[in-house]
Amino acid sequence: MGQRPDWTSDFPYRDWFSVVELGPGTHLISEPVHVNSYLIEGSERAVLLDTGLGLADIRKIAEGLSGKPLRVVNSHYHFDHSGGNRWFQEIAIHRSGATLLATPPPEDLAAAYMDYVHRLHADWVTYRELDDRYFRLLTGELYVRPLPEGFADEDFEILPSQATTLLDEGDVIDLGDRRLRVLHTPGHSPDSICLFEERSGMLFTGDTLSAGAIYAHAEDADVGSFARSTARLAGMAADVRRVFVCHFLRYESPASFLRAVGEGFERVLAGEAPLRPSIDFLGAPVVEACFEAFSIFLPAGWDPAVAGGGRGPG
Ligand SMILES: [Zn+2]
Repeated sequence: MGQRPDWTSDFPYRDWFSVVELGPGTHLISEPVHVNSYLIEGSERAVLLDTGLGLADIRKIAEGLSGKPLRVVNSHYHFDHSGGNRWFQEIAIHRSGATLLATPPPEDLAAAYMDYVHRLHADWVTYRELDDRYFRLLTGELYVRPLPEGFADEDFEILPSQATTLLDEGDVIDLGDRRLRVLHTPGHSPDSICLFEERSGMLFTGDTLSAGAIYAHAEDADVGSFARSTARLAGMAADVRRVFVCHFLRYESPASFLRAVGEGFERVLAGEAPLRPSIDFLGAPVVEACFEAFSIFLPAGWDPAVAGGGRGPG
């Protein structure tokens, strides 16, 4: 492990979670750069869409924002969206994710993630300096946070959890005066869902969309079903006003983003997307299809000529 610069001595943003009110009863609870969770509150009940890394108690934050009975919905089973499930009793996930959620993750994943955290923190120092000097895109709620006081690498545990409710396509989550519809959008993972509030036009996409790298390369991903899911979302664009994603700093996009990503996947399958070699956050090699406001990570060895809408040969 390389030297770790101390950038925290007079750093004003120390809370691990960054909270942004997105509208009445709707909050972003983010672990900036790592992952975004969303608190959606109705007149009777509230839903926390995803629980983050589990590095700090997200339940306390959610309960501080909403006094309503709170249940968790996981957008999919991945550890960075379900890490805080440990603090909740009621957990809903798409039917196809229950077993995956309850399965212990690979043993070395927690350590690999902490390596990533330290790389991120080292590079953040430079990134912030450059932003201060030239660009001024960063605002406080986007700032990377130091690890919580006293938190050691060994404290980061990835725990399996048990779903108490199984969700299906078309289910409606009734919060009283608000209703969230479950859209099953497999591709990033078999159990990926989006939540859509028709009245406000808010769409919460989990990892099915990302204003950054869209991960379509992992073992549990499937590029063909990913393309079908994003085409479906593109078809809904007229009814959507605001799109909220779970990774990178641009957490909100306009509805036109749905069409852009749908077209991006079409171009990938047609072999028309510009490709370059890249690596994912854990350093694994991927093929990256590059577009204007996002990119798509494809399996290493991806060859559109033989992919035929499924996985590459790699
Ligand atoms: Zn994921």
